[in-house]
Amino acid sequence: MPPKERNIAMMGYRSVGKSSLSIQFVEGQFVDSYDPTIENTFTKITRVNSQDYNIKLVDTAGQDEYSIFPVQYSMDFHGYVLVYSITSQKSFEVIKIIYEKLLDVMGKKYVPVVLVGNKTDLHQERTVSTEEGKKLADCWRAAFLETSAKQNESVGDIFHQLLMLIENENGNPPEK
Ligand code: GDP
Ligand code: MG
Repeated sequence: MPPKERNIAMMGYRSVGKSSLSIQFVEGQFVDSYDPTIENTFTKITRVNSQDYNIKLVDTAGQDEYSIFPVQYSMDFHGYVLVYSITSQKSFEVIKIIYEKLLDVMGKKYVPVVLVGNKTDLHQERTVSTEEGKKLADCWRAAFLETSAKQNESVGDIFHQLLMLIENENGNPPEK
């Protein structure tokens, strides 16, 4: 089977680990000081259920509660990774606003989303509980994961789960 092209955007408040997760997934390393203003596009080939995917991953420079949703992010994307940090209640509030703007701009009731609570290695600084994250994702019919870009925990799962959600949306349930 020919590879499928999948365009994915990483969104969320500043400093939650969007770039760290992207670089961990694409390059397999944790970069500690990455320019927070850079918007970068990465590519990676990955295989799920014997299907190859050419992933184009757009690591956005981040949004806040006042950002006007950039229209270019509502076009040509198959799915979204919405990231907050488990150490930042603010980032959890902002992700809800980003999600609402996303649906609004797309004029849809559903888009394939994986909600990610990053920085699980900082558990002593946790301010957003696993239950809160899970509840929000259920409400969106999204997948939910807690990750650590630093410790490479569950990073690959983000993209695998999103690819599956996109397949399901397209009416092609993945083969067993
Ligand atoms: P972005 O602004 O969302 O792209 O966030 P960055 O990826 O630039 O990360 C912001 C800061 O958080 C940097 O200092 C990262 O090293 C740090 N960071 C990102 N992910 C993790 C993580 O999983 N654990 C810890 N401890 N720090 C992280
Ligand atoms: Mg960044």
